[in-house]
Formats: sequence, structure tokens, C-alpha cells
Amino acid sequence: METVAQAPKYNLNDEQEKKLILREYRALLKGLRSRIKPGDRKIIRQAFEMAAEAHKSMRRKSGEPYILHPLAVARICVEEIGLGVRSSICALLHDTVEDTDITLEDVQREFGNEIAKIVDGLTKISTVVDVNASQQAENFRKILLTLTDDPRVIIIKLADRLHNMRTMDSMKLEKQLKISSETVYVYAPLAHRMGLYNIKTEMEDLAMKYLEPDTYKDIARKLAETKRERTRFINEFIKPLKEKLETGEFNFDIYGRPKSIHSIWDKMKKKGVAFEEVYDLFAIRIILDSAPEKEKEDCWKVYSMITDEYSPSPERLRDWLSNPKSNGYEALHTTVMGPMGKWVEVQIRTKRMNEIAEKGLAAHWKYKEGGSDESRFDKWFGQIREVLTSQDTDSVDFLQDFKMSFLAEEIYIYTPKGDVKMLPVGATALDFAFSVHSEVGSKCIGAKVNHKLVPISHKLRSGDQVEIITSNKQKASEDWLNFVVTAKARTKIKDALKEEKRTVAEEGKYTLQRKLEGMGAAVNQHNIDEVTNFYKLASPLELYYQVSVKNIDLKELKEFKVTGDRLDAPKPVRVIEVKPEYHPGLQKKDAELIIFGESSDKIVYNLANCCKPIPGDDVFGFVTTGKGLTIHRTNCPNAAKLMANYGHRIVKTKWAKNKEISFLTGLKIIGMDDVGIVNKITNLISGELRINIAAITIEAKEGLFEGTIKLFVHDKEELEELVQDLKDLPGIHSVDRFDTEAAG
Ligand code: MN
Repeated sequence: METVAQAPKYNLNDEQEKKLILREYRALLKGLRSRIKPGDRKIIRQAFEMAAEAHKSMRRKSGEPYILHPLAVARICVEEIGLGVRSSICALLHDTVEDTDITLEDVQREFGNEIAKIVDGLTKISTVVDVNASQQAENFRKILLTLTDDPRVIIIKLADRLHNMRTMDSMKLEKQLKISSETVYVYAPLAHRMGLYNIKTEMEDLAMKYLEPDTYKDIARKLAETKRERTRFINEFIKPLKEKLETGEFNFDIYGRPKSIHSIWDKMKKKGVAFEEVYDLFAIRIILDSAPEKEKEDCWKVYSMITDEYSPSPERLRDWLSNPKSNGYEALHTTVMGPMGKWVEVQIRTKRMNEIAEKGLAAHWKYKEGGSDESRFDKWFGQIREVLTSQDTDSVDFLQDFKMSFLAEEIYIYTPKGDVKMLPVGATALDFAFSVHSEVGSKCIGAKVNHKLVPISHKLRSGDQVEIITSNKQKASEDWLNFVVTAKARTKIKDALKEEKRTVAEEGKYTLQRKLEGMGAAVNQHNIDEVTNFYKLASPLELYYQVSVKNIDLKELKEFKVTGDRLDAPKPVRVIEVKPEYHPGLQKKDAELIIFGESSDKIVYNLANCCKPIPGDDVFGFVTTGKGLTIHRTNCPNAAKLMANYGHRIVKTKWAKNKEISFLTGLKIIGMDDVGIVNKITNLISGELRINIAAITIEAKEGLFEGTIKLFVHDKEELEELVQDLKDLPGIHSVDRFDTEAAG
């Protein structure tokens, strides 16, 4: 990995600080040198002074003067992404409107509309990020809305995020973790999609450094240890190629480049192999200096030279020359059998392509000037815009859909006429149908892939030619959502289903109205909500629908109380059954749970996996459409989110006493290593207290031991008693219950 410019330690005096700031400013100007036009220098200076003055009294967590941050972001924009003067000005000002007295009007007055708009976009993004985790999806949507306005907003935002990641050392651990996970979830994939490979890679590596520090250090160390060996291998591999290329009169550069720590880790996890077994720890890169009209030809010539020397693996040829990725990436990749039977990936591209690979969008535009056809970027933005403007998508769904359809790798599909369409990996014939037109999608009954008939759920592969078969009788159905991956298809299907449901629900709405009127109750919001909640349904629409399709016959309304025209549901307390999934042998009798306000019907429910409640815990029920009730502990990590977003689906519940059924739970014990400690613990648990142990692991290290025990208890009381008894054993330091699946 490239070295990262780390801010020096801050114990500088005013004079030294001033010097440092000026040095950074000059470096920025130097980077811009080739593109500064007359008059630019003055505006940049003005922006710098405005920002420096506004941030004057502010310092970063590390102690350094705040202005160094906008300066660094501007330098990243210029030096690493290749943006120009206007973007630098925006980068310098990116935190002013949010954090200082400067207003958007000030920026507009001094620098004009174009810059004010970008700064406004950047301000909006930062004020929506960081509110709370459940807001994440909505924030992302806002980011994307600004992206389609002016892509520079998102690029500067990426530079800002990168600099924050590079300088996160002085932050609190939980902040580091939060920022890192946000980065891998949203920003790195976005950087990838904008074609900023270096930035994406660095973001992933930095995030991993905080999220998985041990693994990160381990792989970094192993990479360093094997460096000498690798260099020798690379040189041996390159030597014959170099000789060939030189006789071919090419202007070229050839080198081996290590893969990032994160991508190595990804491969280890995906393939379930050790570091030593990851074969492509590096790639060979050949960069050609070709005339524009000879680029493609030269790349293939070089390909042919390489495969004369080493034999290629045919299924690992990637031709992004003929079909560049939608983020603009162009290259030819092949994997060949190198010395000692090792597979080696070789990437062939020209200088122009290399610049696009490194600087993404910005470089792409540079070369696009004078070009005629609509770029793939423009198409991509067009698709995003289309999805963003389609009405009422749930924002959490939206983020998931978006990640799947816009941030995934892509495949190329041909229409019968030979036009090419790009779809994400995993796309099916139905996705393709929707990408042609939403009417084609909703009427699709099958497809011909390479002239063979396939069902609509057929997964497509790059290069397939697809012809869609439609029928006027066809209608979108719920299960279609199980096999489409594009946001467009999902949105259109959901819209169609909702429309269909609305039509069907009309009848149910009418039935309910008559029923209410028959009872002398008003048809108003309160009464309808009362009925909806009584049946544990997510919305009145759902209620009408269930009545229409006769899943609900409204007989229970008899038991409702009518006061004037007001309707109130009966509130009996009743006991229902729970089926613990953990230990069939112990399932002598079903455990009991009291649900408040329940009717006499049996309610199916299950225990949430995220917090594994046991009797005695404070719990609540959460209504899941189609799945009944899920029981969570009130201190479950997901509780706040569920309660905040879906208050109406929360049901009050309480455990009933039951001594005959056991629940699996876990304890973590830390103490002094002592001969016989395991015996003492197990004796106490299974001997004295007669509690069933499912698993026990104890690890001793330097005089301390750490044990995890999985055991079956009847309820919280019993567990607490056990914890107390364990704590009373000599040498035990702490005993804690596992809260989550992850900890178990
Ligand atoms: Mn910032």
C-alpha cells in the first residue's frame, strides 16, 4: 500500500504553524500549476484566506489547526483525483458554511453560483450524516441526489472522507469504528463506482485497520516478510516479457503491484484459505504509451506476446477494451501460468486508460471533451436519477436495492438487435426485461437466452443475448422480488403490487365500513387503527386487503367495546406458546409468554436471534409482516431502531413462570489461572446447581484464563443466581452474559 501522508505531531509554536499552513497552501498551488488561468490565483487565494479566517480558532482532535484539513482535502482533489481550480475552491470552503459564521450567501457573493451550489451540496451531506445509524439510508439517498446535480460534490465528499480516515488516530474508539463501517458500507463502493480505484482501496485498507486491527497487522506483516521472495518471482516473470516488448518497439512500463491488504483478506475469507494459499498477492501491470488510434490494437498485440510466453487461463480473460465498465474502466486482464506453476494476473492498459483507472470520473471527462457519444457515466447517472425520482420507496430498502444494482460488478447483455445493456452480477432475465421497459418487465413470461427458452428467473451471464417473451395476461407477483436484483425492477414490481393490492383492498374497505356502521361505530382513523392494531397488521391497507382475500372475517369485532361511536379492542391477558429452537431434547413443555391485548387466536412467534431472550428478560414483541411476532430483549442492540421507526408494530409482552423448559445462553468468565479451575466451575454448574452445559471452552494465557460456557437455563433468575455463585468462587474476576450472536 502507498504510504500515507501523516500529519506531524503537534507541538509547534505559532510561527511554525503558520509556516506549515503556507507550505501546504503552496503545495496546492503547485499541483494546480498547469491548469491555472489568469485571475485564478487570486480567487484561490481569496478562498484560502476566507477559510483560514473562518476556521481561525478551531483545531482538529489531533491538535492541529483546522485549516490544514480543507487544505489537505483540496490537495487530494487536485493531486490524487485530478480536479481543477473550481473544485479546489469548493474543497477549501467545504466545512465553512456548516461549522463557521460564513453563510451560503457570503460564498455566493464572493465566488458565484456554481461554487455556492457545490458548497451547499457538501454542507447538506455533512449535516445529514452522523445523526444516527438508522438515518444512514436516508443520508445516502440525499448524497445521491446531490450527486446527480453535480458529481463534483460527491468527489469532494470522498476526498473529505479519505482525509478524515487518514487522520483518525486521535479519535475515540467508537467514533473510529462508526466512521470506518460507514466508509466500507457506502463510501468505498461509491469511490469504486466513480472509478476511483486507489481511493477505494485506501479507504478499505484504512477501515480494516480500525475494524479488524489484528488481522490487518497480521497480513501486513506477512506481506512484508514475503516481499523479497515476491520481488524475485516478479523479476523472473517479467524478464522475458520485457525483452519481447522491447523488440516490439513499444513505449511501455511494466511492474508488479501488490494487492491491497483488504482484498487479500477478502479472498482469504471468500475461499476459506490461509494467507499462504492466496495465489494472487500481486498483479503485473503493463502500461503502454500508444497513439489514440492504436490503443486497442497495441493492447491485443501485447496480450499475444504474453500468451506466447505463458499459457493463459481462458476463463480469466477480461476484455474491458471493447466494453468498458460503467465507471469508465478500460483494460485487458488475463491470468497466465507463471514460473513454478503459479497463476499470475496481468493487466494491460494504455497511459490514458491508466489515468482513468486512477482518477476515475475526472480523468474520464478530460478525455471526453470533444468526444461525441453519451458516456457510460452519463447512462449510469441517468439510471440513478430514474430510480431516485420514482415515488415512495422505503429508504432502508432503497439503500439495499441501490447497493445491489449500482454498486455491484456488472455484466453485459445483448438485445436481439445487438445493443448492449449493463446489468449487475446476479441479474436475471426479468431484470433485463425491466431494463428494456417497465411494461416489458411486468408482462414478461419467459425469455430466450442465446436462442434457448428459459424461465424469467434465469440468471444471466456476461455476453448472453436475450430476447424477452411477453404476454398481455401476465401480472407482476410477489415472488418476483426473490429473483430480481436491479433497483429499477424491484421498484416497478413493488409499485405494481401495491397498485394491485389497492384494487383488491377496495372490497375489504367496504366490508369493514359496513361492519363498523352496523355496530354503530364511526368510520374514522381511531377506529380503523384500533382494528388494524388488533390484528397486528402494518397498515389499514393491509387490513382491507386481508379482509378482501378472506384471511380475516372480522368476527372478533363482536368483542370490541363501542362507546358512543368509538371502538375499543378488548384487552385480555393471555398465555401463548413459544417453541425454543435450540434444544429439542429439553422441550418437555412449551414455555409461556404473556402478550398484552391479545385476542384468543394463537399467535406464532419466535425468539430474536440478535439478542436471544430467555424467560425473565425484559422483552417486547415486534410484528413482522408474514412472520408473526419476534420477541426481543428491551436492551437488544436493535431495540432502539425498531422502536424509533416502527412504534406501531411493537407489542408489550411479559414472560410467564415456567420451570420445565430450558433456554440456551452463554457466559463469559475471566479469572486467575489456577489448577482445577475448570473442575470447580463445572462442578458448580452441573453438580451443585444441576444446570445443563452445552459447551465449554477455556483458554489460559500468562496466568489468566478466559472461558466461555454455553448452558441451558430456565429463566433469568436462575442465570443470575448462577452468575453470583460463580463470582463467589476464588479467583474469578468477572462473569458476563453474551448479548449477541456475534459474541457467542
Ligand atoms: Mn471536512
